[in-house]
Amino acid sequence: MVDTLIVGGGTAGCVLAERLSEDPAHTVRLLEAGQLWNDSAAIPAELLDATAMPLSPGAEWLWHYEVVLADDPPVPATIVRGKVIGGSSAINGGYFVRAATADFDAWDRVLGGSATWSFDAVLPMFRRTERDLDFADRPWHGDRGPVPVHRTKQPAPISAAFTVACLDAGFAAVPDLNAPDCGDGVGVVPCNCEQGRRTGTALGYLLPVLSRPNLSVAPRAYATRVRFDGSRAIGVDCVRDGRADTEWADRVILTAGAIESAVLLLRSGIGDPEQLRALGIPVVHPARVGAGFTDHPEIGISYQIDLEGRPSVPLESVLGIDDIEIRPYAVSFTPGVRRLGVALMRPRSCGVLRLRSAMPGAAPLIDYRYLTDEEDRVRLRDAVSTAADVLRRMGARPVDAIPMRSHLDPWLRANLATSQHLSGTCPMGRADDAAAVVDETCRVRGVTGLSIVDLSVVPVPLGRGPQATVVMLAEKAAAHLAS
Ligand SMILES: Cc1cc2nc3c(=O)[nH]c(=O)nc-3n(C[C@H](O)[C@H](O)[C@H](O)COP(=O)(O)OP(=O)(O)OC[C@H]3O[C@@H](n4cnc5c(N)ncnc54)[C@H](O)[C@@H]3O)c2cc1C
Repeated sequence: MVDTLIVGGGTAGCVLAERLSEDPAHTVRLLEAGQLWNDSAAIPAELLDATAMPLSPGAEWLWHYEVVLADDPPVPATIVRGKVIGGSSAINGGYFVRAATADFDAWDRVLGGSATWSFDAVLPMFRRTERDLDFADRPWHGDRGPVPVHRTKQPAPISAAFTVACLDAGFAAVPDLNAPDCGDGVGVVPCNCEQGRRTGTALGYLLPVLSRPNLSVAPRAYATRVRFDGSRAIGVDCVRDGRADTEWADRVILTAGAIESAVLLLRSGIGDPEQLRALGIPVVHPARVGAGFTDHPEIGISYQIDLEGRPSVPLESVLGIDDIEIRPYAVSFTPGVRRLGVALMRPRSCGVLRLRSAMPGAAPLIDYRYLTDEEDRVRLRDAVSTAADVLRRMGARPVDAIPMRSHLDPWLRANLATSQHLSGTCPMGRADDAAAVVDETCRVRGVTGLSIVDLSVVPVPLGRGPQATVVMLAEKAAAHLAS
């Protein structure tokens, strides 16, 4: 039996395992469904190469989910997550931008102004995560954290052309997208990579401390449910190399990501009582798990342009306009065709995640319900008009003509995708908030000995990609859970 059992060695899980095992008297065990390499030299090159996302369909390090992005008629899609030590931080695009000050203001409002997750409270944690290679002398940056953060100095021609076009259209240049209140404009994306190597939290946090005697990691261990004694979590059932087992612990922390942490809670009896009973799952505690998640819808505009390609991180520059991000991908996903992503970062439309079956491994139902809110459609119509103007200034040729604004909605649906940033399936909130699944220190309400620390607990849509904020969240939660 260990003091802390962490389920999911992903972006947040690797941070927690490292921070909580800093105390040699505290024993920590980490279960990870995917593979672990003890030494960075043994990690497959594809996982380290920051210039390409290792997403080939047969890759052993991916979870795949069939989802519906929008209804009437359904817009189906397949999404992925990292199933490997480091989780999604081991396979993602390397964009490492902090959520905006306004996001923490909104987060703080959800918590009734307690200031636990205000911008001032999280800034020291952001600083602790990073070793900023460009702006370490600025007071809002860190210079000795585990994650190297780098901005390209020699952008690929496509990124350079995009930046020139944005400036030409009157947008401001933003030198540091991680500066507090950096404002709208075009800037170079800070990336968690160094010398072309993707540095997720496994490389940054976990691997350097694997030899700690109080820390053990079980790879290829798939957790199937949390064990309770009454309402106290006492362990986790799992399957490892085909064998069923139970790991016992003084407390359990779920870090399996916004999809799998929610699935684990539901399968363990924390969720909507009616839905759980219909699946034959005994109810431990009623909670609104998976009832209103958000993610960033992204409209993909395919275009052609007469510029040379060059190896680079997938996204080198970005234009931020309030709750819109326009992303000129520097890598080509289809030969000869470029993609501009137009993402809505604070959508009002919410999705639903539910179990279809109590069987471990059964795929959950994930219904995004994108574009259901008229305001989201208005914002995306405006954003696509802005993107079309930038493309025109770049001398780019959209593959399919972009219709006039008044005829845009069918085209939006036809080009609808997701940024793969699903969050908020187990949101944080006050005791009197019916939607709250965890409290402000990430402890699951209504039970003891169980916490969740990953993107599932973030209670508001984040105005930026989530990775940097998840790393910060894990740092801050570790500080709460260590005390
Ligand atoms: C393709 C892709 C590209 C992305 N690019 C970016 C980007 O460039 N910038 C950005 O900001 N965000 C990006 N994101 C999003 C970002 O990477 C994730 O939101 C973030 O890393 C999530 O962290 P997490 O700790 O919540 O979950 P994860 O990092 O996904 O970790 C969950 C871990 O739990 C393990 N696990 C799950 N279930 C179980 C179980 N039952 N038993 C044991 N282990 C389990 C998983 O294998 C995984 O290791 C991207 C996401 C994807 C999928």
